Amino acid sequence: MHGLMMEYPLTLDRIVEHAGRMFPHKAVRTKQPDGSMHEYTYADVLRRSRRLAAGLVALGVQSGDRVGTFAWNHYQHLEMYFGIPGAGAVCHTLNVRLFPSQLAYIVNHAEDRVVCIDASVLPLYERVAGEISCVQHHVLVNAPRDIETTLPNVLHYEDLIDGADDDFTWRSTDEQMAMGLCYTSGTTGDPKGALYSHRSMFLHTLGENQAMGLGLTETDVVLPVVPQFHAMAWGLPYACAMAGADVVMPGPHLQPAALAELIESQQVTVAAGVPSIWNGLYQELKTTPRDISCVRALVVGGSAMPRSLIDGYERELNVNVLQAWGMTELSPLGTVSKLQRHHLGLTEAEQLDVKALQGIPLAGVELRIVSDEGAELPWDGETMGELQARGPWVIRGYFKRDPTSEHFTTDGWFRTGDVATMTPDGYMRITDRTKDLVKSGGEWISTVALEGALMAHDGVLEAAVIAVPDEKWSERPLAVVVRTAESQVDTDELRRLLADKFAKFEIPDRFVFVDELPKTSVGKFDKKVLRARVAGRTL
Ligand code: AMP
Repeated sequence: MHGLMMEYPLTLDRIVEHAGRMFPHKAVRTKQPDGSMHEYTYADVLRRSRRLAAGLVALGVQSGDRVGTFAWNHYQHLEMYFGIPGAGAVCHTLNVRLFPSQLAYIVNHAEDRVVCIDASVLPLYERVAGEISCVQHHVLVNAPRDIETTLPNVLHYEDLIDGADDDFTWRSTDEQMAMGLCYTSGTTGDPKGALYSHRSMFLHTLGENQAMGLGLTETDVVLPVVPQFHAMAWGLPYACAMAGADVVMPGPHLQPAALAELIESQQVTVAAGVPSIWNGLYQELKTTPRDISCVRALVVGGSAMPRSLIDGYERELNVNVLQAWGMTELSPLGTVSKLQRHHLGLTEAEQLDVKALQGIPLAGVELRIVSDEGAELPWDGETMGELQARGPWVIRGYFKRDPTSEHFTTDGWFRTGDVATMTPDGYMRITDRTKDLVKSGGEWISTVALEGALMAHDGVLEAAVIAVPDEKWSERPLAVVVRTAESQVDTDELRRLLADKFAKFEIPDRFVFVDELPKTSVGKFDKKVLRARVAGRTL
């Protein structure tokens, strides 16, 4: 027998309507490119998001069309988070740090019909525009009227909004409609798209706001440092609107001093970013102290927060650190590490150990760890296994790709590519990863792509790239290279070779030349051995 409750579609327009009605005076503030602060309210967000949706429909955007965003964190991008899905379209966030060829691949693969581009990153987009065939309209954001561009079919964001209809009816009628698209680096091959639905994102938002999650409330002032092009800024824009929390958007100002100033001046209570951001802020605060006691939670995710940095924030600066683990494929929040009552008797150091774990799953996310043979492993805090997840905001297939056993199990779980232990009380700890990638400052670097490019050089016989721990960036790539006989190729030459094909941050800091690479029984580079040699300083 089925229940007798309403079929009420869980669509994102309900969230912005709620924010506009219940919290019309709550603020969204943005640090603009010129350093000034823009401030308006959720009533404005609602009105302008609706107009944006109307404007997009008037442009010819149809249900299911992808609309790209190529932008920093700001109020217009927040409007896009609501307005694009509200037009029935899919908000496809494009990473401004991507290498041009990858950007072009992603726009073409997604078949974006419209792209909204910040004036400050317009030259980056113009560089690849010639390789993109699907985009029919370019919408410029924060651009002066007399801006010169090589792009065709250009209009200004404010014109799109100004000419639009206030009485527009949201086109997001079905909770299963796709609302967001975010690409993530593949271990091999091209980036893969995670396609969120209204329902999955609505439930993720409720999940994020659980008390054991981030638990945002109307009293919070939230600073999403995590870019809006990274996994929907971890869902924070939606979670803030649902809670009625004030939002502070940093725009392009992500340098430690600027963030410190913003936190203090805006009295931020929750700030979220990757460890390299918080490492930078910590160093900054040590040299130029500021009062950041307003922060009730410094949320960190994307890579493991070093225990020493948690210690520094908690004990020196008296700031509560909340470690979270997630993935683009999980919308992205999976776990949060909060202390429970049974931790209260622990010493301070032991409590920090708990905070250094990745945390317990939100209600709605199930986790398990699994052996190489597929057997479920015990939660004893020691046994390591592949981490698998399932739940209503977990991916079930990549955009325009058939699900394969590399990513999905036959019994309905997503294979995260992380290796983890679980404590008996459900706290997950990432110990390794099976995906062969490097994560530096929150951005993925493909080792396979680097190896391919290096081995294309005549003087290189073999090359393996591994992640090595780095205090500032969490990880950095290290290239281990075997030269061909007679070859004199050196670091400078290899750097020059890679500079043509990779973004600056992707290029290894160190190249080590060896006579031979260790191999596994099936002849693959044995990266475990290489990593152990780095750790033992024998490489
Ligand atoms: P992304 O899809 O770019 O968000 O990357 C997701 C991956 O980042 C996860 O599969 C982990 O490998 C890593 N990750 C995310 N959060 C954490 C964390 N708190 N600690 C360690 N690794 C993390």
